[in-house]
Amino acid sequence: MIQIEGLYKYYGTTRAVGPIDLQVSAGEVVGLLGENGAGKSTTLRVLACELLPSAGRVKVDGHDVVDDPDAVRASIGYLPDKPPLYPEMTVREYLGFAARLRGVARADTPARVAAAAEQAALTSELDAVIGALSHGFQQRVGIAQAIVHRPRFVVLDEPISGLDPRQIVEMRRLIRGLAGEHTVLISSHILSEISQTCDRLLVIRDGEIVADDTEEAIVQRTLGGARIRLLASGLTAERLATLTSAVPQATLLSSQEEAGCLRLELTSPEDVRARLARWVVESGAELLEIGRSEHELERVFMRLASPEQAS
Ligand code: ADP
Repeated sequence: MIQIEGLYKYYGTTRAVGPIDLQVSAGEVVGLLGENGAGKSTTLRVLACELLPSAGRVKVDGHDVVDDPDAVRASIGYLPDKPPLYPEMTVREYLGFAARLRGVARADTPARVAAAAEQAALTSELDAVIGALSHGFQQRVGIAQAIVHRPRFVVLDEPISGLDPRQIVEMRRLIRGLAGEHTVLISSHILSEISQTCDRLLVIRDGEIVADDTEEAIVQRTLGGARIRLLASGLTAERLATLTSAVPQATLLSSQEEAGCLRLELTSPEDVRARLARWVVESGAELLEIGRSEHELERVFMRLASPEQAS
């Protein structure tokens, strides 16, 4: 378990984070979401024993980051926002080096390197020189070095930053794959990058946690409901008039023609996607798309995360 109580970190006289209180239980995949400068890296660096807290207590599995940093380092795997890769080394050499640095016995190192490479989907690149790898593969090397000593906790600072859409999908899969064996804390400044990856989201603004819940619950509370977008063909005006009686919880916000189809945007205090889908189909129309409005989700989080727009 990660326990943070009353954490503050100052750079000189400037408060970068604090107060922060939070707990992460074993097995959770938690996202730390905030704009640039909100304090994500600082918080993660304290956890990884790279920075000392200015005040407060930070414990990892009962070990204090100030009193017992070696024990904390042994149980945490950390991917900094700029991973310290050695471009002239091969992946195998570098992972072996990282394993030895974290106390893996020499005899166990080859097996640990192979296992970490397999988990990070890097086996085919083990003998490649790091400097010649794409950014996506270099990020995977960063993750592999973080898990090579089989830490219970994995802390990833912006692992998705700079990846292309296909690499983002692969990275999400990789991070979800870590979840079985590790407790994962992952930071990002873009909700959509981590939205499907995490069980729980912490929104950090100006060094403080301003929301701590599931994405669903945060959206519900902030928006007072979910926004749903729907695209249907053959939905007549008469049929549209039956929406209120068929799905009374839904309020129609807008309807517009889109390539011969009708695009509806609705809001509802609860998730009524299944009922809406049934209503469309039972009316003899065809449902082409239904989903929550991603744009809206991003807006909710930016409203929470950004100091100017918060008030
Ligand atoms: P994030 O990771 O969310 O972008 P950071 O933790 O890097 O945020 O930064 C939090 C605040 O601390 C910012 O205002 C940043 O300018 C400041 N900061 C970060 N690192 C340093 C440093 N080494 N010296 C002085 N100020 C810093």
